[in-house]
Amino acid sequence: MSIAEPDIANIKLSERAGLAAGAAIGKLMRQALQFPDLVSLAAGFVDNATLPSEAVGRCMSRLAENPALLGKALQYDATAGSHSLREKLAEWSFQNYPDAKPHADRIILTAGSNQFLHLLSEATLDPGDIVLVAEPTYFVYLGTLKNLGAKVIGVPADEDGICIHALKEKMDELSKQGLGDRIKAVYSVTEFDNPAGSTLSLQRRRELLDLVARWRKEKSPLLLLSDNAYQLLRYYGESLPPLSALHEEAADFVVELGTFSKSFSPGIRVGWGVVPEYLTAHLLDIKSNIDFGSPHFSQVLVEEALQSGEMDQHLPVIQDGYRRKLEATIDALQQEFGGNEDIQWRQPQGGLYVWLELLESVDTGESGKFWQASVERGVLYVPGHHCFSRDSVAPSNTIRLSFGVQNEDGIRKGVKLLAEAYNDTVK
Ligand code: PMP
Repeated sequence: MSIAEPDIANIKLSERAGLAAGAAIGKLMRQALQFPDLVSLAAGFVDNATLPSEAVGRCMSRLAENPALLGKALQYDATAGSHSLREKLAEWSFQNYPDAKPHADRIILTAGSNQFLHLLSEATLDPGDIVLVAEPTYFVYLGTLKNLGAKVIGVPADEDGICIHALKEKMDELSKQGLGDRIKAVYSVTEFDNPAGSTLSLQRRRELLDLVARWRKEKSPLLLLSDNAYQLLRYYGESLPPLSALHEEAADFVVELGTFSKSFSPGIRVGWGVVPEYLTAHLLDIKSNIDFGSPHFSQVLVEEALQSGEMDQHLPVIQDGYRRKLEATIDALQQEFGGNEDIQWRQPQGGLYVWLELLESVDTGESGKFWQASVERGVLYVPGHHCFSRDSVAPSNTIRLSFGVQNEDGIRKGVKLLAEAYNDTVK
């Protein structure tokens, strides 16, 4: 006898749920997990081979041998997160720029920096408020902003990051329309960005800081969000100073975001934000209503990894693994597409992504021929249109390749399949 399904009417969803519908990241993560036989150069999973299993194992053993600390780790902690980790983080992440070292009270620990982005946006944005983003940009944050009803305005960026001239023009234009005081933030993924792999140059860092600082003084208050998710994944060249080390008033308007997801482990999921002092209480009020503190166990584990030096020792292993994968990606692109003027890519100095621009007539979106051909050939990528705001005229011929999760053979195979799909499409 079959049991009848209970007849429950579906609840009416909130407007916010409607705004969240169709979020690209959920779909991309699902695709990667659902089709393990396809070569995924899409979702930004990290490298399995260099996950810090042994280092974390050692940290866990040390925790197990210290019942007092273990007991503490298993308990709730402060809403802002472990004070000792925040102190350590301030020290560790600004070790080369001690003058810019923030007070631990300005740091809020979150379950990954996505949670921090959400928290900050929730605390500072009303529907209709404007966030200017360097485009193409991190599409998960676009989803967060859409969910809050914020208006996202894209500003062109090149291999040196956001174009300052274009940003100034946009801001002036908005001001003329009477919307200057609705601009609440400028968002930049400052190093090896997701998706385009570009890094904000030193000169642009200074210009951006000057522009925002001037706007705050002359027009209205706004924040400069510097998302440093990939900062520790540099494989070539000299590192650059963080934005907060480059302007004497930075502590009043720059928000620096960091995460251990890419440089250590996303499963542990510890991220953070450094915020202007006046914002902390407001963010913590909201965080209190959400979870009154992100998982403390993860924070204690990360602190142990920092304290013991495991983090510093493991970082070169991760960097080395990704550098080789980046080189495999560029080599494969060169081999498959080299000499084809219709296909361009940038060589990033770090991070996890390579951004490609194909022949203008090729539509890389999910309803286009190229996507279809790629899936049939057995390879996944992120269609570039996800990385542009709804109001932008997104170029339809771009794609993001993520080289994080595949090994070098997988990368070569994926790029070869992509080239075959491309030939299927343009022939
Ligand atoms: N910012 C950017 C630009 C990212 O690409 C990511 C991860 N994909 C994050 C923030 C956040 O990652 P997590 O929440 O795992 O810290």
